[in-house]
Amino acid sequence: MFESAITRLTMWYVAIIMAISLLFSAWVYNAAVNELRGGLQHGAVRITIGKVDLTSIIDDELLASRQRLVVNLVLFNTAVLVVGAGASYLLARRTLRPIEESVEAQNRFTADASHELRTPLAAMKAEIEVALRDKNLKTQEARELLASNLEEIDRLSGLAEGLLTLARSDASPEMEVVDLSEVTAKVVKRLQPLAHVKDVHIALKTAPVKVRADYAHTDKIIGIIVDNAIKYSGRGQRVTVAVSRHDGYGLVAIDDKGRGIKEADLPHIFDRFYRADSARSSNGYGLGLAIAKKLAGDMRGFITATSEVGKGSSFELRLPKM
Ligand code: ADP
Repeated sequence: MFESAITRLTMWYVAIIMAISLLFSAWVYNAAVNELRGGLQHGAVRITIGKVDLTSIIDDELLASRQRLVVNLVLFNTAVLVVGAGASYLLARRTLRPIEESVEAQNRFTADASHELRTPLAAMKAEIEVALRDKNLKTQEARELLASNLEEIDRLSGLAEGLLTLARSDASPEMEVVDLSEVTAKVVKRLQPLAHVKDVHIALKTAPVKVRADYAHTDKIIGIIVDNAIKYSGRGQRVTVAVSRHDGYGLVAIDDKGRGIKEADLPHIFDRFYRADSARSSNGYGLGLAIAKKLAGDMRGFITATSEVGKGSSFELRLPKM
């Protein structure tokens, strides 16, 4: 598809270049012939010797000059065609490269998403088929199956929602003045029950910091990082969430003392569907941090992460200060 688009664009560029070159050649030809004719006639008047008629000599000279000019112009246009075609091809490739990359990324995204959707759907289908074949299926077993399927459906809904957030690249954030402490405190309060279940203690340190951001986006990002901090912490461990100001940015720092992230995994944790050590990972899809990074970028903010295996991780979200 791209090769044919490149060929068509190249042909358009070549057509434009050749049209300009041929027009230029026609103009040069006319101008040169007129100049030559004028010059030769003028010279002829001055060097008329006796009664010798110079008209035929002038015509011969003019014809020879014209032929030389045509040959030179043909050579010039051939050179323009060859060089122009090469340059047009390179230019067409360059022009279409970003579109090609974006289509490739979109295809990868679709393939990854289909893969992630297929696995749980296949598992659910198998479970249901086995249950249906069992003539003596008890109500209690059926209930367990439904509960397990419901859990899977919840995860799939989360996945669909995440995919939608990542795919909606044109939705621009609604920027407003956001009180970073307020939104952080709200997120922490919302996640307290989860922390409680895991016996993780969240220490919140706030300072009045106003940023320019989208409230819902900010809430979502902090939610993803704090949720991870709780998820990847051990029982009885502490998670610290601190809001402060730093170099023109509002900063939310989230530190945990959990299992940490391997050095090799760290550069990839913001990639879509990346799960470090997936066997031990929670039942997430590896979309959380990719979404957080995208939303932060949409608001001209950014997230950084540092970590040490066995010692814990630190995530920092920076958003432009008011
Ligand atoms: P997931 O849904 O798998 O948590 P994320 O995109 O949120 O997806 O995170 C990607 C991966 O980064 C996780 O699978 C996990 O391995 C790693 N990770 C993220 N946050 C932490 C953390 N606080 N501590 C340890 N590992 C983490």
